[in-house]
Amino acid sequence: MNEYDSKRIFDIVGKIGYKKTDDQENADCYIINTCHIRDKAKEKVYHEVGRIKNIYSNKNKPIMVIAGCVAQAENQEMLKREPFIDVVIGPQSYHKINKILKNFQINKKEEETEFDTISKFDLLEKTKNSDNAVSSFLTIQEGCDKFCHFCVVPYTRGPECSRPYKTILAEAEELIKNGAREITLLGQNVNAYSFTENNKEFRISSIINELENYSELKRIRYTTSHPIDMTEDLIDCYYSNKKLMPFIHLPIQSGSNKVLKLMNRKHKVEDYLDIYSKLVKINSSIKFSSDFMVGYPGEEKSDFEQTIKLVEEIKFINSFSFIFSSRPGTKASKLKEYDINQSKERLVELQSNLFKNQINHNKSLINKNIDVLIENKIEKQNKYFGRNEYLNPVILDGDKNDIGKIVRVNIENCNQNSLFGKITNKMEAA
Ligand code: SAM
Ligand code: SF4
Repeated sequence: MNEYDSKRIFDIVGKIGYKKTDDQENADCYIINTCHIRDKAKEKVYHEVGRIKNIYSNKNKPIMVIAGCVAQAENQEMLKREPFIDVVIGPQSYHKINKILKNFQINKKEEETEFDTISKFDLLEKTKNSDNAVSSFLTIQEGCDKFCHFCVVPYTRGPECSRPYKTILAEAEELIKNGAREITLLGQNVNAYSFTENNKEFRISSIINELENYSELKRIRYTTSHPIDMTEDLIDCYYSNKKLMPFIHLPIQSGSNKVLKLMNRKHKVEDYLDIYSKLVKINSSIKFSSDFMVGYPGEEKSDFEQTIKLVEEIKFINSFSFIFSSRPGTKASKLKEYDINQSKERLVELQSNLFKNQINHNKSLINKNIDVLIENKIEKQNKYFGRNEYLNPVILDGDKNDIGKIVRVNIENCNQNSLFGKITNKMEAA
């Protein structure tokens, strides 16, 4: 979502004449868009500000803006800790950035951290999305009302808020006109999307079904979804919708019901398995990926073993896994943390199981012909980059006319992260 937000911030500041530059030594303004989900991210921000400060030690400083969730969570603290920072602006206030930049005065610190999501969505509607990537993101929902005990999102992104249905379709049309062949619908809880107009409720399934009608659009994805919002209408999309990719990122966090309860996840392992079996029954080629957390306060060895068992049962083909990081203001921050070495050991064991699944999946594609959407040429190489239906990176020979097309590729080799192959048929797959 930060990638999407960063692009939209560029669209907004472009209205008052700012342009992107690679000239790090002569910029008028730096904007760092930040993530606060784990502690390391915050320190990275100060490190990056320090690096920029060194560049400008002997000349006029640029306007230094910190945007995103670290700005939201730390606000005044950041201005005090690092005087080189001029402006902090939260993720639901970035539509106000032009007013701040236009009125900027040296030595006048600015802070904007209101949850003003509706007026942000209004401004996004009025600001042309200039993204021209083959695979584009489109935010449909932001915020979270679920309050998992470990997570800062409800505090940094605010309550769940869905964008108006028609605005989303208008932005999708723009992206498609700009060359998007794949759209990933985004939200902190993307499948909680709900917008009511004229007594009709629109859900994420409504958006997916509508997007299916755009002939130039070839692929639809969404992320990140929550198990409790995997409603029947969304599951039904996997019956009817040919453009919805058979790959679902559905975070579970732990394979132990006890830990899920401690985390306030509001779903059980059985609910997750039920969703999995319903989807695989609809389409046996559907694959899952997930988010996992180890070392959550209260996670015992037997709980961790249940997570490992789940990973053996559902062959997740790609996942994110983290050690619990205590976040200020969350309920879990009051709990006693585990021995970090034990958490590290658990993470290593979990990841070795996840990587085994990942590499087995990649190997299973060797000598197969698969559909790949070609996204771009790889810089300084005579190779092209694309992705298969499961979002695996595919590296291949191609030419620039293939960008934006779905081609058939014979997979010859793989490593843990990528597949390598040759185009066998340039006729665009349906
Ligand atoms: N809303 C999604 C869900 O609940 O399924 C997840 C969104 S969250 C931004 C992305 C992931 O970051 C989570 O699934 C979780 O695994 C991880 N995460 C969140 N808070 C964390 C924390 N305090 N420590 C470690 N990992 C964390
Ligand atoms: Fe965070 Fe996701 Fe839980 Fe919301 S549902 S609190 S975003 S982990």
